[in-house]
Amino acid sequence: MSTVDDAPVGAALELLNISSLLTEDQRDIQRAVAEFLADRVRPHIGQWSEDHHFPRDLVPELGKLGLLGMHLDGYGCAGVDAVSYGLACLELEAADSGLRSFVSVQGSLAMFAIWRFGSENQKQEWLPRLAAGDAVGCFGLTEADFGSNPAGMRTHAVRDGADWILTGEKMWITNGSLADVAIVWAMTDEGVRGFLVPRGTPGFSASDISNKLALRASITSELSFDNVRLPDSARLPEAHGLRAPLTCLDEARFGILFGAVGAGRDSLDSALAYAGSRIQFDRPISAFQLTQQKLADMAIELNNSMLLALHLARLKDAGEIKPVHISMGKLNNVRAALAIARQCRTIFGGSGITTDYPPLRHAINLEAVLTYEGTAEIHALTIGQALTGHAAFSG
Ligand code: FAD
Repeated sequence: MSTVDDAPVGAALELLNISSLLTEDQRDIQRAVAEFLADRVRPHIGQWSEDHHFPRDLVPELGKLGLLGMHLDGYGCAGVDAVSYGLACLELEAADSGLRSFVSVQGSLAMFAIWRFGSENQKQEWLPRLAAGDAVGCFGLTEADFGSNPAGMRTHAVRDGADWILTGEKMWITNGSLADVAIVWAMTDEGVRGFLVPRGTPGFSASDISNKLALRASITSELSFDNVRLPDSARLPEAHGLRAPLTCLDEARFGILFGAVGAGRDSLDSALAYAGSRIQFDRPISAFQLTQQKLADMAIELNNSMLLALHLARLKDAGEIKPVHISMGKLNNVRAALAIARQCRTIFGGSGITTDYPPLRHAINLEAVLTYEGTAEIHALTIGQALTGHAAFSG
C-alpha cells in the first residue's frame, strides 16, 4: 500500500496527459527543478515553516540552476520561454509558496525592474549578481495605508541639487531585510519614479514582520527611508509613472498562476497517497465514494488550472498577453488551489492540521498569495472592467 512519501509526483496532473503538451526541453527544466527541491527543500520545509526560517544559503544554488531572472535575456540570465519559467514556479510552489515568492520577487520584480527600466550601468552592476544569487533584491511599492491603491503612496523623493532625498516607509516587502538592493517606488514632482537603494545606504533600514501565520518560510519586512540621499544615477531612467511598477507586478503574477497549480498538485498528490493507505471501517478511505467525489472534483479543477496556465504562457511567449488575462489566471488558479488544499486537509483528518503533511501549510500560504500581487477583489474588478467597460475601483 502506498504512503505519502512514495506518492507518484504529479499523478493528479497526469490524468489528461498534459505533459504531452510540453517540449522535451521544458520537461527537462521541470524535472531538474523538481529533483533539486526533492533533495534540498522538501525534507526540511515543514520545519522551516514552523521555525519561520528562510533558507538564505540556498540562494546561490537557485542561481546556479538558472532560476533567478530565468525568463530574462542577457546579463547572466537563462532567457528561457514563459512555459519553462512557469513550470519552474509550479515546482517551487509545490515545495512551498515562500520559495516561489523569493524567486518571483528576485526575478520578476527586482531584476525585471532593472532589466526593463534600468540604465546600462545599473544592469551591468546588479543583474549578473542577482542572477547568480550573489545578491538579493526586493521591490517596495506597498505602504501601510496604500496597498490596493498604490497611487496614493506617501513615500516621496525630492531633488536636492544633482541628488534625490528619499523619505517614507514601505510595508509587506518580501526579502526586505535580506536585500542587497531595494527597488523603491516614490512620488516625485514628475510623478512616480523608481530608485535603487543599496543596503547600507545611510537612512535606509529594514525590520521583519515576525507574527505571520502564512508564508513563514519567507522573509517579509517593513522598509524605512529617513532622508536617504541618492544620486540621480540611482533612478531607473526608463520608469515613468505607476505603469512601471504595475508592469513588474504583471510579470510576477504570471509566475503565481503556475505556482498555485504546484501547491494544488502537491496537496492532491499527498492526499491521494494518504487516502490509499489510511484504513477506516476496514477499507482504505480512498475506496469510499465521498472521498472519490472529492478527489475527482479536485483533479478536474487542478487540470483546468494547468490548461489555463499553459494557454496564458503561450500568449505570453507570443507577446499577446494582457493584464486582464493575468488577472483571470491569478484569480482562478489561486482560488482553485486554495479550495483544493483545504479539501485535501479534510482527507488527512486530525493529522492534516500538523506540519507532517503539506495541505494546510499550502492553504495558509495561499491565503497570502490570494492577497498579494493584487487581491482577489481587485483582479475581479479588472475582469469586470474588461467585460463591462466600467471601472468600479473607486467611487
Ligand atoms: P487593502 O488594500 O487594505 O485591502 C483590504 C481589503 O479591501 C481586500 O480584501 C481588498 O481586496 C479590499 N479592497 C480594496 N480596495 C477595494 C476596491 N476598490 N473594491 C473592492 N475591494 C477593495 N508589496 C510590495 O510592494 N512588495 C512585496 O514584496 C510584497 N510582498 C508581500 C508579501 C506578503 C506576505 C503580503 C501579505 C503582502 C505583500 N505585499 C508586497 C503587499 C501586497 O501586495 C498587499 O498586501 C496587497 O496589495 C493588498 O494591500 P493591503 O494589504 O493594504 O490591503
